[in-house]
Amino acid sequence: MSIFWKIAVIGSGPAGFYAAGELFRQQSWSIKVDMFDRLPTPFGLVRGGVAPDHQKIKSVTKIYNRIAENENFRFFGNVEFGRDIHRSDLLELYDAVIYSVGSPSDRSLGIPGEDLPGSHSATEFVAWYNGHPDFRNHKFDLSVKDAFVIGMGNVALDVARILAKTPEELSKTDITDYALESLYESKIEDIWLVGRRGPLQAAFTPVEAREFLELDNADVVLEGGPFELDKASQLILETEASKDTKKNIEILKQISAKKSSDKNRRVHFLFLASPLEIMGEGRVEKIRMVKNKLVKQDDGSLRPKATDEIIEENAGLIFRSIGYHGKPLVDVPFDQKSGTIPNESGQVIDSDDSNSLLSREYVTGWIKRGPTGVIGTNKQDAVETVHRLLEAFLQEKIEPRQTSNSSEIESLLESRNVDYVSFEDWKLLDEHETETGLAQDRPRVKVTAIDEMLEIIMDKR
Ligand code: NAP
Repeated sequence: MSIFWKIAVIGSGPAGFYAAGELFRQQSWSIKVDMFDRLPTPFGLVRGGVAPDHQKIKSVTKIYNRIAENENFRFFGNVEFGRDIHRSDLLELYDAVIYSVGSPSDRSLGIPGEDLPGSHSATEFVAWYNGHPDFRNHKFDLSVKDAFVIGMGNVALDVARILAKTPEELSKTDITDYALESLYESKIEDIWLVGRRGPLQAAFTPVEAREFLELDNADVVLEGGPFELDKASQLILETEASKDTKKNIEILKQISAKKSSDKNRRVHFLFLASPLEIMGEGRVEKIRMVKNKLVKQDDGSLRPKATDEIIEENAGLIFRSIGYHGKPLVDVPFDQKSGTIPNESGQVIDSDDSNSLLSREYVTGWIKRGPTGVIGTNKQDAVETVHRLLEAFLQEKIEPRQTSNSSEIESLLESRNVDYVSFEDWKLLDEHETETGLAQDRPRVKVTAIDEMLEIIMDKR
């Protein structure tokens, strides 16, 4: 009997797949990977986060499909950690566990009025238009004139762009049908992107910023007159700014120089402003903001400091887009402040003794390092984690468990009546979605309800 190390990967987004891929790349190790996801569909934020008009980015799933073809790979979808399987089960059945569950929650602003109807997190809106089953029944009132997006990262730009595009621009994408219908009815005219710092500190990337120059029915406006940088930012631009930052500045200058036309919508870039309060009788009606100036910190960074200039604007919808945040997993160490699982190069630190590392638990992706970086960033991250895992196995002389009967996990899930989905099952659903999409000249038409997904799989099996 050949002996395998059995690794459980929790979460099937890019981080999980890159970890599986790196495990399979090890010539001198025989490794089996079982990957679990609480949804019947794999690929995490590639399906539920990447904007529908960014289809090229989604082609990264070809790499994940190749990894899934490995004979030592299995997918268990529709299996929720902490509900259907527990840490103790995995530590009994596997040699190691890699948590790659991402950062499914969001950060809040902590200002009055944030919970008024009409104020939402960008993560909810993104998950809604992308058809995440948990968010498909959310409602967003697009019958208002002004929408504010707080934050200047790529997620904020995604939200602003989706609101600014015409339904025709989106109709050939895989945006959900219900989102497209709502967008057809949208009365939004002004979309405001609000950054607490200046143009040089914007977190978005040039490719995403440039798209605002090419919208069919929306002008783009740089608020606050002609483009100008404060002295300290100008110095940074000339001495140490990255290529991307320099490109961002060029694009913002182009935006600033742009003459307005008669397009029906406008996207406003408003820098150096922080929201103070969201106001309204029973729903969002106004936003009160303060203008900031930048102040140099001891570490050289430029942070926002409130001035006494207040701005008040009508607002019907507000999306806070100030970063994702991790959620704790049952029985797994968690640092609330950073929203991550404490780790050393990917190896989980014991919550009872911060000097000691858990030899069979690892972490990769956003739940390891926080919600930063693009999809590809997760590859390097997973490589570090996997190598740490293999080194620990060697150092601690961890032998593969002799429980190599691979049907144990299936028996366990069946005994708990868990209706799990294999990768072949997902392929059936994938085929259904892409065939429906083909008939409409779209990449796919997403199924968004879990029972419907399971029914389609059952019918096609
Ligand atoms: P992000 O890049 O970290 O941006 C967060 C933004 O929120 C920053 O502008 C930040 O400003 C601001 N912010 C934070 N706290 C705030 C506060 N209390 N008040 C006002 N503003 C505040 O996060 P993200 O946009 O959620 O994106 C997450 C990651 O996914 C990023 O690495 C991003 O590049 C990536 N992503 C990539 C794409 C793509 O490649 N197309 C698409 C989507 C997401 P400060 O800088 O002042 O802190």
